[in-house]
Amino acid sequence: MESQRKGTRSAKRKPRKLSGKQRRFQRHVNHVVSKAIVATAQRTGRGIALEDLTSIRDRVTARRRQRARLHNWLFFQLRSFIEYKAWLAGVPVVLVDPRNTSRTCPVCRCIDKRNRPTQARFSCISCGFAAPADVVAARNIRARAAVNQPNELLAQGSASG
Ligand SMILES: [Zn+2]
Repeated sequence: MESQRKGTRSAKRKPRKLSGKQRRFQRHVNHVVSKAIVATAQRTGRGIALEDLTSIRDRVTARRRQRARLHNWLFFQLRSFIEYKAWLAGVPVVLVDPRNTSRTCPVCRCIDKRNRPTQARFSCISCGFAAPADVVAARNIRARAAVNQPNELLAQGSASG
């Protein structure tokens, strides 16, 4: 009886977050994904562009932060794995301004919240260009990396080699 009650209490006390098993699985997934990204960049002689999120934390409200904490944690783990593996492999990483990357039309440059009617979909209200939202964001990030920091890209590349 005593051990049963103890068991119930400890089960109740368990925090509602990822179990050790789930955490290890997510960590494994992030390792595999980051390894593939860095290997592709290295093989094709390219750099990796990431959104610079160092200042974004201040712009996000505390409530949204709370809600997105788990997602963010996995996301930041993936980013840190990519940055670390890229550094080891001598692959340059460029950080770009993250503002409006998912709201800007890559065809006509129209910036509008309504360009992204759902989380998954991009549909330009100005020229009608439509594509998956994450593809559009990735294209915008790549374009900014090429325009913004060609000198840093070269400097990083030569410093690591
Ligand atoms: Zn457009």
